[in-house]
Formats: sequence, structure tokens, C-alpha cells
Amino acid sequence: MITVPDTLSLIGNTPLVRLAGPSEAAGCEIYGKCEFANPGASVKDRAALWIVRDAEKRGILKPGGTIVEGTAGNTGIGIALVANALGYKTVIVMPETQSREKMDTLRALGAELVLVPAAPFSNPGHFVHTSRRIAEETENAVWANQFDNVANRRAHIESTAPEIWEQMAGKIDGFTCAVGTGGTLAGVGLGLKEKDEAVTIALSDPHGAALYNYYACGELKAEGSSVAEGIGQGRITGNLDGAPVDTQYRISDQDGLEWVRRLLADEGLCLGLSSGINVAGAILLGRELSGKLGRPARVATILCDTGFRYLSSLYNAEWLRAKDLPVFPWLES
Ligand code: PMP
Repeated sequence: MITVPDTLSLIGNTPLVRLAGPSEAAGCEIYGKCEFANPGASVKDRAALWIVRDAEKRGILKPGGTIVEGTAGNTGIGIALVANALGYKTVIVMPETQSREKMDTLRALGAELVLVPAAPFSNPGHFVHTSRRIAEETENAVWANQFDNVANRRAHIESTAPEIWEQMAGKIDGFTCAVGTGGTLAGVGLGLKEKDEAVTIALSDPHGAALYNYYACGELKAEGSSVAEGIGQGRITGNLDGAPVDTQYRISDQDGLEWVRRLLADEGLCLGLSSGINVAGAILLGRELSGKLGRPARVATILCDTGFRYLSSLYNAEWLRAKDLPVFPWLES
């Protein structure tokens, strides 16, 4: 059993699990990094910890200060936990379209929650701009700025990537994930390339995001839409700048949801939709790399957060029907 000296040391060092169904479907080895095992139940705990520690080091976050952030939810949950552990206050600005569970969780953790209508990034009312303004207007406050603050991707360069490398004993051919801020894709990509330039880094983009077209043909252009929370980016964020993306896939909600269903029904993993989209992408990357290498490839991806965060959406028959998405058979009745 592992013993750690304090609660913040519980962030990271998550297990890597071989996924049987996806491995069989791809004809190679597919592994998932269990980021739902972090204390805040998502990959964003790492970014939260690195951003807060970076602000302390730069002297902009003072004792008793306030951390303000705009987030789809998971970063806010990570920041609230880290802030509680270090004696800071938290103000979270979130679009009102995000899951009920994330809002309830943020309130339960003691964060001050500010809900704003969903708006395009160009609108000054967008949650990111609102959070920047609140930080500017609040005394002794810092703006975490997860999209453009590269302390976010440093978390993955310094922790997630070396963990994956060690857990796969240096035998890894490819890595893929979707993008919210881009911290995970760019950070793990850069960290793995530092170990071995030959590791292929792939973007798995949901519909409605602009990055697939950007990496495929240099044009930031979105098509379609997705109900996935926390992913789907329309610009090159500071964290994405210089990301080593070798190839890209576009994954539908239907394909992502099918893997959410199968991983729960067949392997006992309850995940959010971004994890399903990542696994669908990992299967495509695994097949492509196995073909190129002439042997079964070894591919890793991120299992971003727990499905318990989406009981009123992904795991709710009425919600799924309203979105025209297939309902898990055990929810039908
Ligand atoms: N999945 C979920 C559920 C998330 O909340 C996020 C973060 N917004 C991501 C994936 C994407 O992570 P990143 O911000 O590192 O791109």
C-alpha cells in the first residue's frame, strides 16, 4: 500500500489500465490513464495544482488570496480542493449549460459559483472573460487562466507523460486525447516526445470543434456539434501553441457514447463522454499504427473523469432521448 505525506500528494500517480474491449476492437494494446482516480475525480486536478503552485512561486498569489477561474467544471473542482488545502478562496465562473452535478459539487466544496449564459468566445460575457474581469476587480485575487497559462500543460509534461512512459516501460507507439484547453494533449505530447521522438501524437476531436480541420488543413473550422462537456476548442490556446500533433481524428458523440456504454457494461468503468471519445480515437490510432509498424501497436489515452458527474445527462434516458442519442439498454423502462 502507498502512503503519501499530505492530501495534495494524492493528485497524479494514477493507474494505467489495459482496456480489454478496445484492445480487441483495435487488434492491439489500448491503455487508459485513470484520471477519474484523482481526488477531484478528473484529469484537471493536475492542472489546478500546477497553476496554483506556479502563482505562488511567481508571488502573485498571497496567503488568504482568492483564485478565480472560468471552467466547464472540472478545473473548478480541482482548484476548489487545492485552494481549500492551501487556505485560499475560490470563485468559479461556469456556463449554465454544464451538468447539474458539477454545479452542486462546486457549491458543496465551498467555491463561490457564478453562472453565465453560454456565449461565443468573442462575446465579452463568455465565462473566460467574465472570470478575468472578476479576478481584476477582486482584491488579492489571481486569475488561473487555464486556457493560456502554460503551467497547465507543464503539469502533464512533468507528471502525466513520465508516469505513462514508466507505466508502459518505455514501450509506447502512440498517444491520443481530445482538447479542452489543450493542456493534456500538448503536455503529454511534449513529455512523451522528450522521451522518444517516434511516439505518434494524435488529436481526437469531437464534432463542433475547430481543431481537426486546423491540424488537417490549417483552417480553424468547426462542423456539427457535440454534447461532450469539457472538450471542443475553436482556437489555438496558449497551451496548444507548439503542440506536437502528428495526426488527427474526428469522433462522433455516437461512437464515444458506444465506448462509454461498453466500458461500463463489459469492464465496470463508469466514465464521462470525453473518455469515450478518447477511447474511440485510441482505437483508430492503434489500428493505423499497427498497420504501419507491422505489429500490434501500444497506445495510451486519457480516461478524463467519472461518469458519476453525468447521472442527469449521459446516464439519464430522457436526456439521451431529447438529444437523439441511443439510450443504454439497462436505462430503458
Ligand atoms: N475531459 C473533460 C471531462 C474535461 O473537463 C476536460 C477539461 N476541460 C478535458 C477532457 C480536456 O482536458 P484539457 O483541458 O487538458 O484539454
